[in-house]
Amino acid sequence: MSDVSVIGLGEMGAALAGAFLSAGKSVTVWNRTAVKAAPLQERGAILAASPAEAVGASPVVVICVSDYAATSAILTTEGVTEALAGRLVVQLTSGIPKEARALETQVHIAGARYLDGAIAAWPRQIGGPEAAIVVAGPDAVFAEARPLLKALAGEASHAGVEIGQALVLFNAALAYLAGHWIGFSHGAAICEAEGVPVDAFGAMMASLSPSLGQDLSHMGKAIATGRFEKPESTLRTAGTDIARLVELSTDLNIGAAWPRFAASVFQRGIDAGLGEEEHCAVVKVLRMA
Ligand code: NAP
Repeated sequence: MSDVSVIGLGEMGAALAGAFLSAGKSVTVWNRTAVKAAPLQERGAILAASPAEAVGASPVVVICVSDYAATSAILTTEGVTEALAGRLVVQLTSGIPKEARALETQVHIAGARYLDGAIAAWPRQIGGPEAAIVVAGPDAVFAEARPLLKALAGEASHAGVEIGQALVLFNAALAYLAGHWIGFSHGAAICEAEGVPVDAFGAMMASLSPSLGQDLSHMGKAIATGRFEKPESTLRTAGTDIARLVELSTDLNIGAAWPRFAASVFQRGIDAGLGEEEHCAVVKVLRMA
């Protein structure tokens, strides 16, 4: 028996297996395209010939593939159901909460324990202090897996007992990051069109990240408590500035789809009488949709 089996050796799965090896764990791996296991085999990993062999090789099975459909397909290949009995399955593939709930049922029927998690890190960060993994499932199962998860992430946190909760947080973070990526790219387009170095823009935004972190905590509290009054800067002020961003983007001929969308959300907030409230009162506009 090895300490842990890793199924899926794409960018992320290979990083997970590598981190286990770096932490001194014995690791069995399986990947549909077996050749991807070679660098890990050179470091001591054992390549299983089938998913059933990988599941049977360790008490804990970590899965990280493209999506839940792939996980489900792997877990229904020949011999896997029998091999799963008594195992602990940790699924770290990204998805949506209902997929975690369905997979939990499938794994429990096979007689295994189940944790569902999501990774908030780049593969190169896995095993280091910057990697964050959030996991959901029963307290006792999380406690059992925690020492192993520590090999993957400085912060392996427990989102809750309900199995969908890690993916709730993952998808909430993804909703935030979607704006972060598009917003940064639009800012970069402005810089390019005006001859300002984009790397300087990146460095400036990085230097703002501590105060952006404070704003995130502040917004979380404001929305959780429903307190949007007496802000230091109003939704109207931000909405007015964002409306000018549409004009600038049109003048620069860089496409205005992103600021136009943002401006329309803020304008709807102003039209709904939220102009004197916090910026994050836009949550009320989004709830109206
Ligand atoms: P990837 O490099 O594209 O690897 C995908 C993996 O899934 C490969 O091992 C692939 O096998 C396997 N796979 C796909 N369909 C399969 C099937 N039907 N049967 C068996 N295996 C199948 O993707 P990745 O970057 O490792 O991402 C994996 C998961 O980690 C995703 O849910 C992703 O959202 C999450 N994640 C990734 C990152 C990141 O930065 N990469 C960050 C956070 C979370 P083959 O090698 O045979 O194709």
